[in-house]
Amino acid sequence: MADVLVEAINLKKHFPVTKGIVLMKQVGAIKAVDGVDFRINKGETFGLVGESGCGKTTTSKLILLLEKATSGSILYKGKDITALSGSELKKHRTSVQAVFQDPFSSLSPRMKVGSILAEPMTVNNILSRKEIKERIAELLYLVGLRRDGADLYPHEFSGGQRQRIAIARALSSQPDLIILDEPVSALDVSIRAQIINLLCDIQKRLAVTYMLIAHDLAVVQHMSTKIGVMYLGNIVEIAESEELYFRSVHPYTKALLSASLPLHPADQREEIILPGEVPTPFNPPSACKFHPRCFKARPICAQESPPLREVSSGHLVACHIE
Ligand code: SF4
Repeated sequence: MADVLVEAINLKKHFPVTKGIVLMKQVGAIKAVDGVDFRINKGETFGLVGESGCGKTTTSKLILLLEKATSGSILYKGKDITALSGSELKKHRTSVQAVFQDPFSSLSPRMKVGSILAEPMTVNNILSRKEIKERIAELLYLVGLRRDGADLYPHEFSGGQRQRIAIARALSSQPDLIILDEPVSALDVSIRAQIINLLCDIQKRLAVTYMLIAHDLAVVQHMSTKIGVMYLGNIVEIAESEELYFRSVHPYTKALLSASLPLHPADQREEIILPGEVPTPFNPPSACKFHPRCFKARPICAQESPPLREVSSGHLVACHIE
């Protein structure tokens, strides 16, 4: 059996919505994450896809402990981390790192690259100055940058090179898990493949685990071992990457796939155009939240929430009809 690194169990994050200035009264909640379950095995890539506002980034912030869960649990290396504090919280933040979409805003413009990479290493005061210098050189080599890049500022690099620096910084504390939040969507199309290949190479060398968040199913499919599809705070389908790509079941996954670039030019799919926008998570549709946009909807879909059920080994779908 695979070694589980992260397990989310009925995880929820509801943001209260208040009214009034003096006597603030809660009038509802934005259900950004509304009861999700998934497992990420060590050394694998777990992809999380869905349109913006579906709750993927909030889910990652819960794992990074940048947000506190409303309920449910997150087991990390078998231990519930939702209430960590003090030194244990600090240790968790070393073990889980993130690479964000925009490398320009995530790197301090006033710090040289060497200092940016050294910062996570100095937190625990374990390494000597010489060891930190050697480690910076190793990290730059690992991400395909020159050693003398340590003496430059982020603005002296191209967008793709800055994302390489962000990846090196994420690796500098030797994490077990890296959350990749839309890691290539802000980059030129011509350099996206280089960064994706770099991330894949690093995973092969270091056996690091990734959680990959993206709206582009083609990127997620290429890199992921397993994929979860999110819609309005819920996972509606989850399966091994190839199974999801070739044998998707949920109407929403089918629509997402039909809109993404095919893996092979001959592999054309008829595009499914979904009507309307993603509804707000403040007042989501009843029962199956996808029913107002679903081309397969039946009356039951507006009356009862479909549970996640197994349609084949490890392939789970939340749909009454499919
Ligand atoms: Fe569509 Fe009904 Fe399935 Fe929801 S439960 S995805 S509305 S068919």
